[in-house]
Amino acid sequence: MVTRHFIDGAFVSSETGEQFDNLNPATGERIGSVTLGGASEIDRAVQAARRAFATWGRMPVAERSRLLHRLADLIEAHQDELAQLEAKDTGKPIALARRLDIARASANFRFFADAVKMLSTETFDMDGQALNYALRRPVGVAGLISPWNLPLLLLTWKVAPALAAGNTVVAKPAELTPLTATRLAELIQEAGIPDGVYNVVHGFGPGSAGEALTRHPGVDLISLTGETVTGKAIMAQAAPTLKRLSFELGGKNSLIILEDADFDRLIETTLQSSFSNQGEVCLSPARILVQEGLYDQFVEEFSRRAAAMRVGDPLDGATEVGALISEEHRNKVEAYLEVARQDGGQIVAGGRRPSGLPAHVAHGYFLEPTVITGLSDASRVVQEEIFGPVVTIQPFKTAEEAVARANATRYGLSATIWTQNLTKAHRIAAELEAGIIWINTWFLRDLRTPFGGMKESGIGREGGVHSFEFYTELKNVCIKL
Ligand code: NAD
Repeated sequence: MVTRHFIDGAFVSSETGEQFDNLNPATGERIGSVTLGGASEIDRAVQAARRAFATWGRMPVAERSRLLHRLADLIEAHQDELAQLEAKDTGKPIALARRLDIARASANFRFFADAVKMLSTETFDMDGQALNYALRRPVGVAGLISPWNLPLLLLTWKVAPALAAGNTVVAKPAELTPLTATRLAELIQEAGIPDGVYNVVHGFGPGSAGEALTRHPGVDLISLTGETVTGKAIMAQAAPTLKRLSFELGGKNSLIILEDADFDRLIETTLQSSFSNQGEVCLSPARILVQEGLYDQFVEEFSRRAAAMRVGDPLDGATEVGALISEEHRNKVEAYLEVARQDGGQIVAGGRRPSGLPAHVAHGYFLEPTVITGLSDASRVVQEEIFGPVVTIQPFKTAEEAVARANATRYGLSATIWTQNLTKAHRIAAELEAGIIWINTWFLRDLRTPFGGMKESGIGREGGVHSFEFYTELKNVCIKL
């Protein structure tokens, strides 16, 4: 099977004929090959998107909205097939792909198809002498760059508001997970969305399709979800053509547990927040801080439950933890376990590659859910994003201490607080340096809310009207009366 680019309504190969392998992380086997794009394919896609913008950008909002709802219907109708593709491409459990990734992909289109009809602008009356009003217009050609951990969910989180607002798109999906972005192209065509409105070019980042997209003078904006270093590189690449930028980047999120927390609920949710999607979730609070009175009980129960999680074949509906995305990534995660040992940490659960897996997944890139205690805040394991099924647990005395320690990182994406004292919870939430804060829950998402990170976790906010602020231009019209 060859996964090809989708440009101007047609699947095409690269001029050079070059391809790269796409592997299934659960088996290590080749799923197929992917056409490798570069500056030339990006240029063709940008030109197609520019031509399509002339009509898509002027289409009545109700008509665009209707087409995006039709697309959401098609995603729902193909939910099982899309979940299969996502599970094979990423190694994530198929049950999670169905419940989270694909369900959210259709919800993203529905949400923005409705939200765009509610958009308003400001007017300012100057004492009856003049009137100002603002018009909202699409920006133009959107370059959308997405990561491999939640491929269709995070890509559609950009594509849906971009298209709803009237922009056209050149998408550059992560090289490790090209399948669902490509299948989406077929569904977009089936929904009746015109050729050139959604284009996909496959390839890598630096020196490849990703870099070419960010440098192309015909691209008006770039939205990236990816690593912090990638955000820094793209900022430099996009500077000469002064593109509008939105960045959702990495994190090292803290989870603060006070002694009065509801223990049973917190254990269950924390197992999910730590190990669902193999811990490869930007919002995952991998740094768990527990108040001293609850520390021993939490470590014991949490480690016991982590060790009992079912790791294995992503296509088995009962699997809770699948394979990591690649051999290289597992090596990186395992290197952090070595650092933890050198820094005096104790691995109290997991830490190994699981044994006894069925033969067909015996060579997959699995790692047991891993819990580490005994590290100081100075350890790299506590400060750096690991992006795997690895969490650290550390004790603290007072809430003030926990907040200060949680804030002492270069990141600021999300934070989670567990306590039954809501006054305390509000106070802590107000002090934490993070763009997204959950109290007594995790990953509970209302798509109208601002989503994004502080410090090195990002620039800008997505969600609801915040997405439209990014994907539209506002122009003020002033009339002298
Ligand atoms: P990555 O930064 O390696 O890659 C993301 C995308 O950027 C890929 O499509 C890649 O090809 C492209 N890219 C890389 N270098 C580029 C360059 N110089 N120019 C243009 N494009 C380039 O990230 P990843 O490994 O795919 O994903 C994991 C990272 O994403 C983690 O750091 C995670 O925290 C972050 N993430 C953040 C959020 C969020 O909402 N803040 C959500 C999911 C993932």
